[in-house]
Amino acid sequence: MRKIIIAIDGYSGCGKSTTAKKVAAKLNYLYIDTGAMYRATTLYFLESFISLSNPKEIDKALSNIHLNFIFNSVTGNNDIFLNNLNVEEEIRKMYVSEKVSQVSTLPQVRKTLVDQQRRMAKKGAVVMDGRDIGTNVFPNAELKVFVTADINIRAARRQQELFEKGEEFTLPYIIANLNERDRIDTTRTENPLRKAEDAYILDTSYITINEQVDYVVNLYLGKVIP
Ligand code: C5P
Repeated sequence: MRKIIIAIDGYSGCGKSTTAKKVAAKLNYLYIDTGAMYRATTLYFLESFISLSNPKEIDKALSNIHLNFIFNSVTGNNDIFLNNLNVEEEIRKMYVSEKVSQVSTLPQVRKTLVDQQRRMAKKGAVVMDGRDIGTNVFPNAELKVFVTADINIRAARRQQELFEKGEEFTLPYIIANLNERDRIDTTRTENPLRKAEDAYILDTSYITINEQVDYVVNLYLGKVIP
């Protein structure tokens, strides 16, 4: 089979990462979670008290950030490492979710991370999920999927995920966070979140994770000529 790039974009909390990870496992492709890269960068900015209005400080911080994905044989995940420290759990916490979209508007941050994403995927056979993969990182990706879902369902799923990790938040609080991130992501000047014209729409509101995965795998099978 020809090795392609599968770009999965969409709103916050629609199940992009869960779908992308499982599709990659089924196809024996590399999975790259670009949201984790923006989250790890945000974690560094928070821990180092970087001023988001000081371009010099931002450049210096970016030159000190080294991101790697390393396979975790216990969970089967590709965990993200920030300067050799596994931050996979920390970056999913609410205090990071509350800042990440703001950090992701910064052109310097986007340029640095997009360059890395393009390098990571240069051999193809990649499933990459995020907000601007099909429109900006890989506008020529062979298969693009745009994921959406009802806000109440997204919030309930996110609440459960956070609860399982020991963080408790009310539904209105989570809805506000998801909506605010979507607002910033869709209205920023630099590569805003939008559906690529040639992306297929996947609404995950009323389907199971297996159905989401099958949808993408079937698109792949229909697209790729052996
Ligand atoms: O995918 P996830 O929800 O973990 O992404 C966290 C945030 O990172 C998004 O809300 C968005 O602000 C930012 N992001 C982005 N571009 C991407 C991936 C994520 O701006 N390609």
